[in-house]
Amino acid sequence: MAERIGFIGMGIMGVPMALNLVRAGFDVIVTNRSPDKCAPLAEAGAEVAESPEDLARKASVIITMLTGPHAVDHMLFGEDGAAANLNAQSLVINMSSVPPSYSSDLARRIGNYRAGFLDAPVSGSKKPAEDGTLVILAGGEAEHLERARPYFDAMGKATIHCGPAGAGSHMKMSINLLLGSMLAGLAEMLAFGEKGGLSRDAMLDVVLAGPLSNELFAMKREMLEQGEYPPQFPAKHMAKDLKYALDTAHELGAWAPATHLAAQLYRMLVAGGRGDEDFAAVFDVLHGPV
Ligand code: NAP
Repeated sequence: MAERIGFIGMGIMGVPMALNLVRAGFDVIVTNRSPDKCAPLAEAGAEVAESPEDLARKASVIITMLTGPHAVDHMLFGEDGAAANLNAQSLVINMSSVPPSYSSDLARRIGNYRAGFLDAPVSGSKKPAEDGTLVILAGGEAEHLERARPYFDAMGKATIHCGPAGAGSHMKMSINLLLGSMLAGLAEMLAFGEKGGLSRDAMLDVVLAGPLSNELFAMKREMLEQGEYPPQFPAKHMAKDLKYALDTAHELGAWAPATHLAAQLYRMLVAGGRGDEDFAAVFDVLHGPV
């Protein structure tokens, strides 16, 4: 029998991901801390739950796509939280970006209800979420992954099993460590070149024509040329993820010097009141006053 999917978190990512589940024909029920953000899903035919607790009563697969640990704890274990209705038939899939140590602990806490658990954060931002081309980084047991695979296939173009619970989150922190430094590097190049009179346009032409070209730089080109940064991946989330990556590096005894520098740049953006802009705004930190 087809399962009912409960989706918690109607943010930049959650709305298009849940819409893709509806479009693929799955029976979806949603909820969000701010209920008005459920409107696009209601229009698409999904039921809107009164609370996470109500959602977990009606759905056996529960997906969370929320800011971070505080939000996930609130929606699962807070007042009217989903955990009240978890049981041995439930599968909880946390797709939010969180520290690996939090994911391992969450697997244990969900296990106390005899429910299954996957951590499955994503690589890709707003556009891949809309296009259903995210890359899903899954941690947990293979049998849970097979149960979730049809849902992942509706939201992404690839699912990679990274290892046990926590491994998906560790992969996500590893990817974002690279992402943060890559964009800071491009921003530094553009700011450096402009000081010497090079045009931003010509520099982007050169980067995108040669061996340093990649989808990320191509995607950010328009923002960097126009100096306007509508959020796809907000700078506040990059600052959060780099903090988690640095905390994890500390726990594991790994070196992450480039990430230390990149983290400071994104923190400066957030401190300047620009945390809701796309993280490509890091260019303004390097180019001139925030
Ligand atoms: P977002 O637009 O900022 O949405 C955040 C969601 O979390 C909203 O549903 C928000 O509810 C909820 N939330 C925040 N604090 C909460 C709390 N204390 N209690 C309950 N709910 C709370 O974020 P997003 O861009 O969709 O990102 C979601 C997750 O995906 C994050 O972990 C992010 O790092 C990760 N991610 C994002 C991207 C991207 O490009 N945007 C890419 C990959 C991964 P309200 O609507 O009520 O505020």
